[in-house]
Amino acid sequence: MCVCRRTSGADVSSTDVNRELSSAYRTILSVIDQIEPRIADATRAELTDQRESLKLIASENYASLPVLATMGTWFSDKYAEGTVGHRFYAGCQNVDTVESVATEHARELFGAEYAYAQPHSGIDANLTAFWAILAHRVEQPRLAEFGAKNVNDLSEADWETLRKEFGEQRLMGMSLDAGGHLTHGFRPNISGKMFHQRSYGTDPETQLLDYDKVREAVREFKPLVLVAGYSAYARRINFATMREIADEVGATLLVDMAHFAGLVAGKVFTGDEDPVPHAHVVTTTTHKSLRGPRGGLILATEEYAPSVDRGCPLVLGGPLSHVMAAKAVALAEARTPDFQAYARDVADNAKSLAEGLLSRGAKLVTGGTDNHLVLIDVNNFGLTGRQAESALLDAGVVTNRNAVPNDPNGAWYTSGVRIGTPALTSRGFGADEFDKVAELIVEVLQNTEPVTASTGKPGKAKYTLADGVADRVKAQSAELLDNHPLYPGLEL
Ligand code: PLP
Repeated sequence: MCVCRRTSGADVSSTDVNRELSSAYRTILSVIDQIEPRIADATRAELTDQRESLKLIASENYASLPVLATMGTWFSDKYAEGTVGHRFYAGCQNVDTVESVATEHARELFGAEYAYAQPHSGIDANLTAFWAILAHRVEQPRLAEFGAKNVNDLSEADWETLRKEFGEQRLMGMSLDAGGHLTHGFRPNISGKMFHQRSYGTDPETQLLDYDKVREAVREFKPLVLVAGYSAYARRINFATMREIADEVGATLLVDMAHFAGLVAGKVFTGDEDPVPHAHVVTTTTHKSLRGPRGGLILATEEYAPSVDRGCPLVLGGPLSHVMAAKAVALAEARTPDFQAYARDVADNAKSLAEGLLSRGAKLVTGGTDNHLVLIDVNNFGLTGRQAESALLDAGVVTNRNAVPNDPNGAWYTSGVRIGTPALTSRGFGADEFDKVAELIVEVLQNTEPVTASTGKPGKAKYTLADGVADRVKAQSAELLDNHPLYPGLEL
């Protein structure tokens, strides 16, 4: 059993604030009731579901009510294409304030030279960053060579040459089954259609990144863009080494910290593990471990700033000013000592969860964790990821299936279940509670049997969960959840 430090719920658990906002939410929902009651009902039902489930999806969290409330304002109604002070629309002075405050917090929180708060999501942030890198590395030198100020000055023939060159560029990122993300150059995503792509994987034995192998792969492929970052790798990355590797071939190092931005903001990842001092460009979402509104953010060095700053109209249209406002509030929250305590708890809780799972016989990809997530290889329970995910959901435990390295069940059924600590840590769960969560997960997995398919082959989707297990696990989860209510004081 782990010795528990008191966890910080920070603003999510701020009972007084939540109580004060209750009447505002009640009023708003009663007004929506008059217009479209199904939406008011679904909104109430979503709160109940979120309150009553053991939310372990590694990419989800609970933003504070002030962050959520900031999104519900008239900033949504304002067009503001352009940048601070240089808009294509009149009357953007208040949006200028919002965007300036958001980027100021982002720069100071992460120690970045430049920040861009307009991307609507992580995928937008990556696409904007990729095109900004292409603009900086491919377009700018060509414009200078052709004596043009911008692309409109190019002759048809020079423009065709440049367009062809865009399509010849190379990108290298972590393979999907090692934990990389679809936006890192994979074919179903536009990044895979833009770039020639190759990936680096992990060591077949340890399942850890082997930097010598990454170096070898980079030397051979010589990408223009080297991407570091992941969605399902349970370990930290040495970004100083990744930068050295990028420099060897003149690649731009882009770090996608969408998953672990909260651990960077909370100073859990420092030195070589902090991407900001080492990468040319850093992208992130704001809604995962960073605990902000759903959105994206880009940080960059001075060198790349002018290209990223042209994200609109390069890739983006009008910014979501109401969401930028909420990003500013969330980033202000992330600059507090409470948030640093929260980030430490996220990582400590993941360790407790991993130890709890390992001690009860589960197998973890990479053998453990040193970030905010664990990836269970459910093959040794005789299950696919799909069966495990569904059985856990029957018992009120919300996770998601994920491929493991060289997954025998492919990307759809998978052999893994990914579990993260950011959301429940926001509710105040500590190491002891996560040990209990490990016990409940293993109880479900041990009591789930695959159902043989009608073809006689081992089934990949169907399963049976032994009688009584779901109810027993739900009752024990309810006890944990009741002790750590979501938005305490908020009554609709
Ligand atoms: N990058 C990484 C590493 C992610 O994990 C994700 C989302 O899961 C994204 C980008 C895309 O983020 P969004 O869903 O906001 O577009």
